[in-house]
Amino acid sequence: MKDKFGREINYLRLSVTKRCNLSCSYCGGKKNSDTAELTKEEITALAEAFAEKGIKKVRLTGGEPLIREDIADIAEAVKNVKGIEALYITTNGILLSEKAKALKEAGVDGVNISLDTLDSEMYKALTGEDGLERVLSGIESALSENFKRVRINSVLVRNKNDGEAERLILLARDKKIDVRFIELMPFSAQGENEKLLVTTPELLERFPFLSPEERKEEGAAEYYTAEGFSGRIGFISPRSAKFCGSCNRIRVLADGKIKPCLGNSIAYDVRDIIFDKEKLSQRIDEIIFNKPASHHFEDGEKFRNLSLIGG
Ligand code: SAM
Repeated sequence: MKDKFGREINYLRLSVTKRCNLSCSYCGGKKNSDTAELTKEEITALAEAFAEKGIKKVRLTGGEPLIREDIADIAEAVKNVKGIEALYITTNGILLSEKAKALKEAGVDGVNISLDTLDSEMYKALTGEDGLERVLSGIESALSENFKRVRINSVLVRNKNDGEAERLILLARDKKIDVRFIELMPFSAQGENEKLLVTTPELLERFPFLSPEERKEEGAAEYYTAEGFSGRIGFISPRSAKFCGSCNRIRVLADGKIKPCLGNSIAYDVRDIIFDKEKLSQRIDEIIFNKPASHHFEDGEKFRNLSLIGG
């Protein structure tokens, strides 16, 4: 359905847990063990209600979604909801090699893997875990399962891992992977520090061998290609090029709140009406219709911890 600004909302980002097995500094999180989570049945009921409103694409996220023992069952239930055409998952990749096969069998179409460095010491410094090898083997498992899409998402922080950009880009030369850079958002003290933000225009200047793809794909990323590359390079630029005017997303948080805009503090609790089809349908209508026009990162509005919201 459309919101009051005429934007067609057809993409649901569904957080299945606040728990995470990493503590990335820019995310604002320490490892979190909050278990106030929707059950598989609640998640399915929400997915059904959203599908009736025209949601066609769902992304499971968190926290770290693969921490949930029942993640493949959740994926299968959501994928089987009438109207859901595509199901994706976003993960830090730590548990991916163990779970890639079950996710593929459950009907997951694509996997986004967060990875900000290819240096194992730096990985440990950024995430608090000695996990790079596990993530790399998770990427290989995802590739061998032949998901329709395997992507790497990277956040660069100046003077920490911005020197890793080139090595990350080269992953798209060597493997059939899209590597995407997401501009740092204000979800932590680090994210609020403008000096640490590495913008898309800055990266494009640094890598002049990238040329823009002619075909514009639906979604937040702008894609670039380079000669001899198997995959593409994408840029998601919420800071340097606000894309709220074409935002098609809505979010469900792990505890059952609906959040219509990532960069806005409004969230509506619907957990007590999840199994009341009529009430839930009405509530979703109101929430989608009143989706805020845009985020307010640039006004210094502060939001804590993306892993609690659902990245
Ligand atoms: N645990 C999963 C993962 O690592 O992909 C899903 C949740 S995580 C919060 C989702 C994405 O948000 C990750 O790619 C992470 O890099 C990104 N992220 C976290 N904090 C951010 C920030 N301050 N600015 C931009 N992206 C951020």
